Formats: sequence, structure tokens, C-alpha cells
Amino acid sequence: MRIHLVNPSDVSFGTAVITPRWQYVLAAATPARHGTPLLVDETLEPIDEDSIQPGDVIGIGIHTGNALRGYRIGRLARARGAYVVFGGIHATLFPDEAREHGAAHAVVTGDGDLVWPAVLDDCDKGGPQPLYAGGRIDGDAFYPARWDLLPKGRYMWASVQTVRGCPKHCSFCSVWRTDGQKPRQRDVNLVVREIVQLRRLGFRFVVLADDNFYPVTQADLAAADRRADKSQLAALTRIRDERFELMARLAQLPDDMAFYTQITMEAAEDPAFLAAMRRAHIRGALVGVESVTPEGLKAVFKDFNESGEGLVTRLQAFRQADVHVLGSFIFGLPTDTPETFAATADFAQRAGVSFAQFVMLQPLPGTVDFGKWEREATDVPSIDGVPLTRYWLIPPERRPRVYTPHPRMTADELRVRTQAVWDGFYALNLVWQRSSFLKSLRARLAFVLVSKLYRQMYANTGIATDSARVRRSALWARWLARFARRLFASDPMPALREPRREHPVVPGRRIPVVTVP
Ligand code: SF4
Repeated sequence: MRIHLVNPSDVSFGTAVITPRWQYVLAAATPARHGTPLLVDETLEPIDEDSIQPGDVIGIGIHTGNALRGYRIGRLARARGAYVVFGGIHATLFPDEAREHGAAHAVVTGDGDLVWPAVLDDCDKGGPQPLYAGGRIDGDAFYPARWDLLPKGRYMWASVQTVRGCPKHCSFCSVWRTDGQKPRQRDVNLVVREIVQLRRLGFRFVVLADDNFYPVTQADLAAADRRADKSQLAALTRIRDERFELMARLAQLPDDMAFYTQITMEAAEDPAFLAAMRRAHIRGALVGVESVTPEGLKAVFKDFNESGEGLVTRLQAFRQADVHVLGSFIFGLPTDTPETFAATADFAQRAGVSFAQFVMLQPLPGTVDFGKWEREATDVPSIDGVPLTRYWLIPPERRPRVYTPHPRMTADELRVRTQAVWDGFYALNLVWQRSSFLKSLRARLAFVLVSKLYRQMYANTGIATDSARVRRSALWARWLARFARRLFASDPMPALREPRREHPVVPGRRIPVVTVP
């Protein structure tokens, strides 16, 4: 019985930007008695069907975007006599769909880390259960990844998780519903050990693949401090102190390391946190700006974000702290007008964000927006017999890019205007200007390459409806990725030692001491 862990993708680039962490974590969770799993990442190359033998186990991890491809692989694997197991966010939300469309023998919902060995044992005995509920495991139970299985020279960035869950409740996001609102932090020592292992292997760029790296804000602490019962304040302070402890340890790693994460904009009001991030070599962060207007932010339950000039100031605070921002903006909110596009493009430029993504509003399963859409939509159109409220089951080339009617603009207008903002933001002269904070020519060149690659991979293949353009973009991305990867490669450091704690930890009060305002 051979175990295959498959990350499905319709498009393969030969080189990928970020390692699909879940594959390496499940490989670590695979007991030695079942052998070493075969990892197939289709963003690199498509699965070799002939490698699937009767009695093998095919574990397929899916999110909404790659579910249809995953189902195809599932049917194919079952036809070849393998056991088919689905997991991931989408399978957690739609276990029956994975059975109906993906020919699943079993579906794992929630965190797969602890339940995976039982799935394999049952397959080995010839009787997997239809459902395994992985639930939400504690941070200390997260498995470290098996980085020894990484193929050489295929990925630009490694990925390490430090915390799961997000206390916010944005209406377009499923993270807080699937991973929960309680932050589950991993043990600092385990995180640091994994990162050191990656640097030893030659990875100096690492994504801290967290739902929200900044789970406790100054406002949260102040609100907890106003309560008579101080237990919440103590709990929040502990979480925050652990963040600082992690960053203090990362700060001791070699200076050539660069981390990237995602956080909420409120971190801009926390100079101590930003300074610690910079010391920890956290050079950039994805910040969900979403909308530049107060009405737009209200529409997505994100009114904790600033708008207007306050927003520019907040984003500039990141840049001043030398933490570079990938600003994420959403188009197609009901409050958007044709003027929103130019205003957002102008804003992104003025706020000094280094990278930006402009995504079209898409009701993602598991979100508040999706629930509302599914409940309230009447006369939902179908494509090839699939209702639009199950759009991920429509083949990508037939799938629309806009799902809900907009009060002011047609679907095509939204798509064309969004594409134009991507094109404008990533025009060569502007990208070159944005790279001016870098000192060496090599670094500026890398910045330009990555900017162009980002646009090819995410804008052109994600927004364009013209299949020739999508194919052309995939080819360009493939070519650019080969060059970009070389710029990210570095020499291994096999002798690198793990940084030690700087100060002894006093129970209940970890370093550094945080003062609540
Ligand atoms: S969008 Fe970001 S801040 Fe909002 S719930 Fe999702 S992870 Fe949290």
C-alpha cells in the first residue's frame, strides 16, 4: 500500500512560489509502518496516473478553487483500485460532495494531523470509515513538516505555521469559521526548530503561513483591562507575549533570512510589535485593506479598518518600520462605483504598498456572504446543469468570474476594470519605482521579476476569461518562475544552530513584559 498526497491544480508552472505545507505535515503524521508518502504537487506538474496502483491510498487536499480538479483525480484513483480520501477546507464544508463527485471512500474534516494514522490503518485493513472528524487540535499538537522530503530546486519560499485561527469575523472570509476565532499558537521551540531546518537546507525565504500573525490588538487589551474580571486580560497578554518570544528568537537567525506573513492593519498602531517584526526579519505582510471607503468596509464587517487618509497613514507606518505590505483589495462590493477602481489604484500607489492584489468579490463557501447568497438568491442560473451557487463544479473555462449581480455595473465591466487596475499597478515603470528601497541591482531585479510573476500567476490566469490569454500567461509565469527561483536560492547552512532563549521564562510572565496602555 503506497500513500500518495496530492495537491490538485489545473495549471502547472514547473516551479512554485510556496510549498504546500499540508502535504509535508501529513507526511510527518504518516506512521513509519506505512512507508514514506509520495508527494504530488500539481502546481509543479500533473499527477502520473500510472503511479496509482490497486490498494494505494490517495489523500487529496482541496479548497474551493481546486475542488473540481481534485474530484477528477479522486474518480480516476478509485477506478484504478485505490482508496480515495479527501481533506482540506472544502471537503470539511462539503463531505457529501466529495463522495458524490470525487468518489471518496473517506473524508477527513477539520485538522487532519492527529486522525490521519487511523485513516491509514483502516485502509490497510480494507475498511476506511466514511467520515473522520479531525476537529480543531491544540497548537501544541500541530505536526512539524517533513522538510527532508522537499524536491530540490522547485520552490521559492518554504511555509511554516505559527498560529491557527483568527478572532475577527469578516463576512467574505471562512477562516474564523473553519479554524475558529480562538488563536491556537504553536510552541515557539518547535517553530524555530523547523525554520532552522529549512535554513540548513538552503531556504532563506519563509512564509509564516498563519491566518493572522497579530491575533491580539492594543484595543483588545485595553477592552479586557476595563473589565473587573482580569482573566481575559491575562489570557490575551499570554498570547501576545508568546508572539514577542517567537520574534525574539527569530531575530537571532542569520540576517539573510526573510519572513513574510499576514496580519490585520491594526498592527500599524502598535510600534513595539512592528519593531519586533522588523528585528525578527519579517520583511513583509499581506494586509487585507479590502475597501478604501467606510461604506465598503462596513459591507464586509471590517469596520475595524481605517479608510481615507487614515488608511494611507496606517499603511505608511508599516513601510516606515521597514515591513513591506502586500495590500489586498476587493472589487465588486455593492457600494463600489466605476470611480472606485481609479480611486483604489491611486490609493495603492500613494500608500506605498510594495505589492497589491485586486480580487473580485467571490462568495466563498463557509462565509457569511455565501450563506446569505445561498439563502436569498432566487432564479439562480445554471451552467451545464450546475447552479451558480455550486460554481466550483463548473469547468474553469465555462465558469463566470462574477457571481452576484452588481447594482451598478455588469459582470464584464467589473472584470475589465479589475484587470485594468492590475495592469496599471504592475506597469514596469511603477514597479521599478517601487523597488527603489532596495540597495542592490540584484535585489531590485528580483523585486521586478516577482512583481511580474505575481501578476501573471494571479491576475491573468485568475481573471481573464479568454483561454488563449490564460494559456499564454501560464507559459510566461512558467518562464519567469524559473528565473525568479534562482534569485531566491541560497547556499545551505548545514551547521546552523538553533537560537536559544535570551531570558529565562517566568511562569505566567514571558519575555518581553508588555505594558497595557
Ligand atoms: S479576512 Fe483576515 S482578519 Fe478577517 S477573519 Fe479572515 S483572517 Fe481574520
